[in-house]
Amino acid sequence: MEKIWKIIDIINWGKDYFANKDIESPRLNIELILGKALNCDRVNLYTRYDLPLQPDELSKIREMVIRRSKHEPLQYILGSTSFMGLEINVNENVLIPRPETEELVSLILQNHNNKKPLKILDIGTGSGAIAISLAKFLDDSEVLGIDVSDSAIAVAKHNAVKNGVKNIRFEKKDFLTNCNFSGNWCVLVSNPPYISKKEFEQSDERELFYEPRVALTDDGDGLLFYRKFAEVFKDMMTSDGRFYLEIAYNQAADIQEIFEADYDLQFHKDFAGHLRIVEGCVKK
Ligand code: GLN
Repeated sequence: MEKIWKIIDIINWGKDYFANKDIESPRLNIELILGKALNCDRVNLYTRYDLPLQPDELSKIREMVIRRSKHEPLQYILGSTSFMGLEINVNENVLIPRPETEELVSLILQNHNNKKPLKILDIGTGSGAIAISLAKFLDDSEVLGIDVSDSAIAVAKHNAVKNGVKNIRFEKKDFLTNCNFSGNWCVLVSNPPYISKKEFEQSDERELFYEPRVALTDDGDGLLFYRKFAEVFKDMMTSDGRFYLEIAYNQAADIQEIFEADYDLQFHKDFAGHLRIVEGCVKK
């Protein structure tokens, strides 16, 4: 007779299986996969722990376990992730939003209240996570998200609708070659590809290789976008405009050098203590 698998059996088997495959937080991974396959949350798994699973449920679980065991990011397998409390769909065409980027958005929300409508531009919007959360929480503002990738724009548009955000637009644009946006942005924000080609190619983080390369590395020294920003931002902003950029953990000194001629900068640490966010404005 075929073995009967209960929820608890899969949890116990899956956590060991993932641990052997070097997956971090193996129990959490198998719980989230089970939750997705059974369409329930993690707590419910434990209230139904001795329920036998049906063949179609087992085959869904098996397929997701195989994908994760090859180090495909869990967020792609589940199809979404949480960002600033919003559910953001993700697939292999967009970078998975990181917790560090939530700190970037929180800083903007702290500095700019909803009383004054703002014109906000998000450069390299990807899934739209930054643009959508700013539009949602600063709902008098007008947000434009641009990205070089058509398939990313499709994901971003879907996420805006999914989150009921209307004060937002998305356009396909390559900022490096087409950055003649008019000069009245109040807030410019970007989490550009900042991993250098060398670091990217030496990385042993297997999950990274599932994400779009163009969202992670500029295939140069990791500073290409910041040089462009320094060149053009001063002509793009209102007189009290500010920009907010995510940077790599080791780029603060280079960023200072790139921007210092024309801009005043402030660096902010992420929760790991790295200078991760740069905030700036044109020198008065
Ligand atoms: N924070 C990402 C990582 O280190 C990189 C994102 C980016 O290049 N903007 O995996």
